Amino acid sequence: MPEPPQVKAAAVEQPSPAAPPRETCDSWKPAPFDPKSSRFYSERPAGSYRRFSEGNEAGGCGGLPECPRTEPVTGMTDWLTLPRTGFNICPTCYQAVFAKSEFRNHFQPILRPTNEAIACDFGSSPWYRIAWLLTLKHERRDLRLLHHVTNVAASPRGEPCPGNRKVARNWLTVNDPYTKRPMTEFTVCYQCAMTVEALLPNLAGLFVQLGPGSQPTRQVCALHFTPKRRQFVQFFDALETTSDTAYTAGQAPDIAGLAQELRRLSVGYPCREDSPVHGGLWHVMQSLPELTVCGACFDEVVRPRLDEGNSVAQNFFMSTQRLPVATCQLYSARMRDIFQRACRRRDRDYLEAKVLERRTIETDIYDELLKLDRAARNDARSEKLVERLVSEWKRWE
Ligand SMILES: [Zn+2]
Ligand SMILES: [Zn+2]
Ligand SMILES: [Zn+2]
Repeated sequence: MPEPPQVKAAAVEQPSPAAPPRETCDSWKPAPFDPKSSRFYSERPAGSYRRFSEGNEAGGCGGLPECPRTEPVTGMTDWLTLPRTGFNICPTCYQAVFAKSEFRNHFQPILRPTNEAIACDFGSSPWYRIAWLLTLKHERRDLRLLHHVTNVAASPRGEPCPGNRKVARNWLTVNDPYTKRPMTEFTVCYQCAMTVEALLPNLAGLFVQLGPGSQPTRQVCALHFTPKRRQFVQFFDALETTSDTAYTAGQAPDIAGLAQELRRLSVGYPCREDSPVHGGLWHVMQSLPELTVCGACFDEVVRPRLDEGNSVAQNFFMSTQRLPVATCQLYSARMRDIFQRACRRRDRDYLEAKVLERRTIETDIYDELLKLDRAARNDARSEKLVERLVSEWKRWE
C-alpha cells in the first residue's frame, strides 16, 4: 500500500501565552519518584516531566519562564552559553532558571554574529528543559545532562528534528520484545532518539533502525514537540517512568511494558489519517478490503449505521484485522459523505468505485512525491510541485 503524501508543512507554532516571566523557580521542584503513587488519570505513575507539564497547564508554578526568543532573532548581543558548546540561552531564561542557582557560574556571555538569526535553545527545545528538570530530580551537582543534549544536537549524524512535518528519512524505533519486531508505528528521528538515550542512560540502546538497510520512508517524528502537544508529554512520560522504575528496582528496564504503552499511545486514537500505520488493527469491509478504517473513525461514522442494521455497514468484518501497513480511508468529510450516501442507497458498488478511485489517486500522488523527495532538490520549483500535489491530494483524501 502506498504511503500518502505529506499534508503540509505546518506553520511554526508559538508557545501559548502563559504567566509572565518569574524571578526564580525555587518554588517548584519535582517530588521524588514514587512508583506506587497514582495521582493522575493513568494507571501508570507520572514521571517528573508529565507532573511538571500538568502543573503548568493547571496554572501552577512550572518555574520555567515564558521565553521571548523561541523564534530566531538577529542583532542580539546578550546571549549566554555553556563553554565550548553551541548552546544559546537568552537572559530571560538564564535569570529565571540559573542565575540564582549553584550553576550560575557555569554560563558565559557570548558574542554570536549579530546578522545570524538565533533562537534561545532553552526556550525553544523541550530537551533542555527536561534535562534541567531531571537535574533537579536527581539532585545532580553538575550540568552534565544539558551538555549531553548539546552534544547530540551538535552531532554530525543528526539533522534537526523535522517537527510536525512528514519527511523522507531513515527512522529509528523500538523493538517490541513481544512481537520480536520493530514497532513501526512509533518512528523517531535520530536526534530525538539519541537525546532520550542521553537523558535516560539506562535506556541506552533502546532505539533501533526501523528496517535493516532500509530505504528512507516518509514519516513524522513521534517525539516532535509543539507546546500544546499532549502526546509528546505522554510518550516522554512512558520513557521516563520505565527508566525510573528500573532504577528503583535495580533491574533492567521493562521494554515489553514500554512497547505496549507506546503502542497504546500510538495506534487507533486519534485517527492517523493519511500516515501509514504498520501492524495496526483495522476495521475492514469483507467485499471491499481496500476500505480500511481506524477505530476512531469506525466508532464515529460506521458504528451508528451498524446499530441501525444498515446492510452496507454490516459488511465490515465482525472483528478487527491486523494489517502489515494501512492508512485510514474514512477521515475526510468527502469520504464520510460518500459512505453515508452508500448507506442510504444501500449501494456497495458506488462505495467500491469511490474507494478504488481514491486509492488510484493516492498511489499516483504518492509516487510523484517520492520522486521529488528522492531528487532532494529543495529549490523553488520542487517546492511548488510539492505544494501543488499536496493541494491536489486535499481534494481527494
Ligand atoms: Zn529563552
Ligand atoms: Zn524528532
Ligand atoms: Zn480514521
